[in-house]
Amino acid sequence: MTKSGFSLATLPSPAANEAIYLDHHATTPVDTRVAKIVFDMMVSSFGNANSVDHVFGETATAIVADAKRRVAELVGSDPDSVFFTSGSTEAIRLAISHAIGPTRASPLRIALTRVEHQAVIDTANLAEQLGLAVVTWIDVDHRARLVSESLHDALERGTDLVCVMAANNEVGTIYPLGEIVPLVHRHDAAILVDATQAAGRIAFDAFGADVDYLILSGHKIYAPKGIGALVSGIYDASRVYGLGVTHDATPNVPGIAGMGEACRIMLSEGRDETRRIADMRDRLQTNLARQLQDLVVNGDQENRLAHNLHISVPDTPNDLIVNRLRKKVAISTGAACMSGAQSSSHVLRAMGMEDCLQEGALRIGLGRFTSESDIENAVAEIIAAVRDVKNAMVGKDYD
Ligand code: PLP
Repeated sequence: MTKSGFSLATLPSPAANEAIYLDHHATTPVDTRVAKIVFDMMVSSFGNANSVDHVFGETATAIVADAKRRVAELVGSDPDSVFFTSGSTEAIRLAISHAIGPTRASPLRIALTRVEHQAVIDTANLAEQLGLAVVTWIDVDHRARLVSESLHDALERGTDLVCVMAANNEVGTIYPLGEIVPLVHRHDAAILVDATQAAGRIAFDAFGADVDYLILSGHKIYAPKGIGALVSGIYDASRVYGLGVTHDATPNVPGIAGMGEACRIMLSEGRDETRRIADMRDRLQTNLARQLQDLVVNGDQENRLAHNLHISVPDTPNDLIVNRLRKKVAISTGAACMSGAQSSSHVLRAMGMEDCLQEGALRIGLGRFTSESDIENAVAEIIAAVRDVKNAMVGKDYD
């Protein structure tokens, strides 16, 4: 209980929700260890990090510096390269605006994979519409793996900025950044790596410091929404296209401290957690495949995020399945920004997936608080929902 009379005990715990949450690519619950720190920053250590005239401001400044160190440790970079943002979308916009620069004699040549997040695609397209960039697309194969000739081709034709995500937010495919980053640099181009889904789940130490613009989001790693980071050794706020941005605004110290704690936890526990989650994911996959003979597993099964299972039930409308599960198991038909949009996923199209598999595509995302019994119950519920929809489709008891 604090002076304000508000107690953390009044906050709902992740377990309070009755439905099983398997949509961790969309967002994650805040870890209670992170929430405690955020809460404390809001009510106790609430100083303004820009007011260094007293101990409150000093404490806040020290907290921001500590969080930068934690973020940098997770991705193998320098704390001075960490710039906090409101999330990945803002970090992506800042990075591309910085790559364009305050003035340009000729448009920025951007090459991006066809499976980047919509935030990257929209920013690149907008820059092109404004005459600030020309966009080239890098192809992927049927497992969403990068087609290496397509990247080489773009680099040989001349590229200033390459955008390759660390791992895909729909099908989970992980990209070989240890090879891609030096290749891009050998061609004198810069690289933007959207690590929103991969941070804490794959190791960054081998190449993290070499990435020109690395993108992170708090709410995908058990920190609150509204906090993220651009990690960049070349970023300079005064050299951004447009009216410029300032990092002199009052920092979101609670969010920043939460992001720092989330990164600390990921660094110390991420490896074991990833193993545990991969085991559960594999059991989920095996049990679903055993009972749904026509099930197809999408993405690169040899190299995918541990918490990702992306499947297709051919010719079975995914929105009907998700709807049946609505109050029982939270899974999705695609990326959060696509959900409910009823348009097909640009990722699945780029993979050349057949229409019948796109129609039945389901994204399942496990997380830190997913339990063995969640998996057991989710299997039963998903199987029942799929059978229900299939039956309904042959004109039986569809309501
Ligand atoms: N990039 C990827 C790969 C994502 O999955 C997301 C969110 O789903 C974003 C960027 C946007 O992140 P934010 O919600 O922090 O703006």
